[in-house]
Amino acid sequence: MDFSWNKEQLDRRRATVEFAERELNNDLVDRNRAGVFDADGWQKCADFGIFGLPVPEKYGGSNADLLTTMLILEGLGYGCRDNGLPFAINSLLWSVQADLLTFGTEAQKQKYVPGTVNGSLVGAFAITEPEMGSDAYALQSSAEKTDDGYILNGHKKYITFGPICDFAIIFANLNREKLKQWGISAFIVDTGTKGFTRGPVDEKIGLRSVPFGDLILEDCFVPEENRLGPEGAGASMFAHAMEWERAFVLVSQLGRMERQLKDCVAYARERQSFGKPIGKNQSVSNRIADMKVRLETARLLLYQAAWLKQEGKSNVMEAAMANLYLSECFTESSLDAIRIHGGRGILSEMEVERDLRDSVPGLIYSGTSDMQRNVIASLLGL
Ligand SMILES: Cc1cc2nc3c(=O)[nH]c(=O)nc-3n(C[C@H](O)[C@H](O)[C@H](O)COP(=O)(O)OP(=O)(O)OC[C@H]3O[C@@H](n4cnc5c(N)ncnc54)[C@H](O)[C@@H]3O)c2cc1C
Repeated sequence: MDFSWNKEQLDRRRATVEFAERELNNDLVDRNRAGVFDADGWQKCADFGIFGLPVPEKYGGSNADLLTTMLILEGLGYGCRDNGLPFAINSLLWSVQADLLTFGTEAQKQKYVPGTVNGSLVGAFAITEPEMGSDAYALQSSAEKTDDGYILNGHKKYITFGPICDFAIIFANLNREKLKQWGISAFIVDTGTKGFTRGPVDEKIGLRSVPFGDLILEDCFVPEENRLGPEGAGASMFAHAMEWERAFVLVSQLGRMERQLKDCVAYARERQSFGKPIGKNQSVSNRIADMKVRLETARLLLYQAAWLKQEGKSNVMEAAMANLYLSECFTESSLDAIRIHGGRGILSEMEVERDLRDSVPGLIYSGTSDMQRNVIASLLGL
């Protein structure tokens, strides 16, 4: 593996950091408290070209290679203090766009992908339901075939962008007689479609700037041309999206962890206690050393997963390891950051505690930590 970045790549990362610091951090404490989506920042990111990084030029993207894309998205996380916005962007890139580009017909790609690149279309990716999450193939949503399409019924839960999406990729079971995953199919449903409703924004512990909620399908007709991929291929499409999402959805968190570390070092050098900087106490400096080791280990795991994907090799094990480690260590480092900042660490205005809240959903989405361990263990033959 060779991660020696060239000047152009580093310039693009630097430009992204500067863009994010300049454009994406205004009124963050208030916005976070109110749980407001930064629609303005979203559009600015689209205009800056972030949504089109991994997308071919014919659909409006810049067709950047995967490692460069990772570096830029890491820069976004370094510059943007709102963890929700980068999470939402990564969710769009690595589930919605990834599946559309791989399984969509030419007409579907032309209709949906350019809009997700220029910011005019927000897409959601909906598999989870009230009665199942980790056991994704046990979904209950149904699709019934008609002469010219399908009738969908079901309830989707915890859907990123659910309350504001323009379209959603919905997974439903087309053939209940068939064993679990062999009946699952995917459909692109536009939000104006009769029988398709979106629930309100659910309030949550962290990532509060990302709207997230339910989608309801009641006798919702979807034309044949909106089926994504072949009938019954939904399970492999979901697995495909997970290979990308699991590996890369947390990439911007790396940047955030780097910024968190920098802030902690500065505070530990400046804050005085018993006549010396708190960083001169080994209990404090050890915490900071551990944060550094976590950051660099997480970075190596993630770039390893990206490099394998770029080389066209399987990265299932590496993606699970990267997701597990990066999510768990962001929580640990965020707690350490609070400890280092003492009382200031828990004040919303100081913007230290928000990382801990934002880190918690990372332990759940794209597969819980338990499920990542299951993937690793099963690939080890257990
Ligand atoms: C911020 C966020 C965004 C999300 N966005 C989306 C989205 O856009 N689209 C979408 O479809 N879903 C989304 N989800 C849902 C997410 O995928 C599910 O919450 C997740 O898969 C877990 O499912 P569950 O909540 O039903 O928990 P459950 O599956 O009920 O799990 C509950 C507990 O049991 C454990 N567990 C379950 N089965 C096993 C097992 N076999 N081995 C070991 N432990 C097990 C789990 O690890 C967990 O601790 C999102 C979730 C979050 C937090």
